[in-house]
Amino acid sequence: MGTIKECELKIMTPGPVQVRENVRMARSIKTTNPDIDTSFVEEYKETCDKIATLLHTSGQVYILSGEGILGLECACASLTEQGDRVLVIDNGIYGHGFADFVSLYGGNPVLYQKDYRRTIDVEELRVYLENDHDFKYATVVHNDTPSGMTNDVMAIGKVLHEFGILSVVDSVSAMGGEELHIDEGKLDIVCGGSQKVISAPPGLTIVAVSHRAMRAMESRKTNVASFYCNLLNFKTYYEDKWFPYTMPISDIYGLKVAVENMLAEPELVNRHKKIASAVRKALTKGGLRLYGENGYSNTVTVFYVPDKVTDQEILSYMKEKFHIMLAGSFGHLKGKVIRIGHMGENANVEDVEEVLDALYQTLLHFHVEVKEEFTKSFRDNFI
Ligand SMILES: *Cc1c(COP(=O)(O)O)cnc(C)c1O
Repeated sequence: MGTIKECELKIMTPGPVQVRENVRMARSIKTTNPDIDTSFVEEYKETCDKIATLLHTSGQVYILSGEGILGLECACASLTEQGDRVLVIDNGIYGHGFADFVSLYGGNPVLYQKDYRRTIDVEELRVYLENDHDFKYATVVHNDTPSGMTNDVMAIGKVLHEFGILSVVDSVSAMGGEELHIDEGKLDIVCGGSQKVISAPPGLTIVAVSHRAMRAMESRKTNVASFYCNLLNFKTYYEDKWFPYTMPISDIYGLKVAVENMLAEPELVNRHKKIASAVRKALTKGGLRLYGENGYSNTVTVFYVPDKVTDQEILSYMKEKFHIMLAGSFGHLKGKVIRIGHMGENANVEDVEEVLDALYQTLLHFHVEVKEEFTKSFRDNFI
């Protein structure tokens, strides 16, 4: 039998990220039959409750088997009925992508298109809604990972709520690394993924569902056009001790420990903030240019590929010479920018300094002028 080769790279990408040993160990413990053994239902519920604590919500949290995208599709599938108008807040690649899910389930997406380099201006949104607020729900991305920009979803959620519009939030790459108080922000369905800040391997999606969203689903006139993506199927899992499909038990054991790791750290968001801010200062002092004009993310930094070198040259050299994996981007940003993922387990001084030093050496190798050594200004600015 062949053996699996252990990963020798430092994965400093904006998800998946490095996974702590206690999470990896939890994924290897002996498992029961999660369909029949009710002790698993308790484990599942405890994990969901811990996530609810982390996200400050009194609503329900569900863990579904599938990557982050599944949560986004579930939200749209479960809320949309034929002809529903849905406001798709579009200031980035993921924001735009929601329109497809809305259409797929018969909704009518109305794009609210804004500059991809700037966060959503909440007052501008309010003015727009004063003229037109006939929407069943609105979709918005918390942290647009390809561009490294974070929208103030709590402020957006409050405005939408004033106009009686439900909100669906893609917080996949933000959850845990940015402020997120679901109840206070009046947010309705908030999606997360196991492989981003949460720092477990990919495979699970998290959906937090408000009481309002649950009522909206229950009062549908037509059935949800999906089984796997129907959130109503999870509603009575605890009472019935029954899941719509067999739960990936090892993934959930791992997730529980990952969430416990997060809850054990009161300064979690602050750690992300400090690292992100020092990384940005280091790169800009060195002469690199950040993508985006405001709303810089706590979890990922995106900078333009300098002249005289390509993204692939930098990424390959970093990988081969320093065993560090960074990421390029996609869509309209393909080839133009490079992304450093400093989320979850990646957001620590040692790893980030290692990345910055390797990046510095790499740029020198390609004859790119760097005005100030990144690690020096990182240290000077890390407070
Ligand atoms: C990672 C991520 C997802 C999940 O998408 P994958 O491409 O399947 O990893 C969804 N939304 C955002 C903003 C993400 O960063």
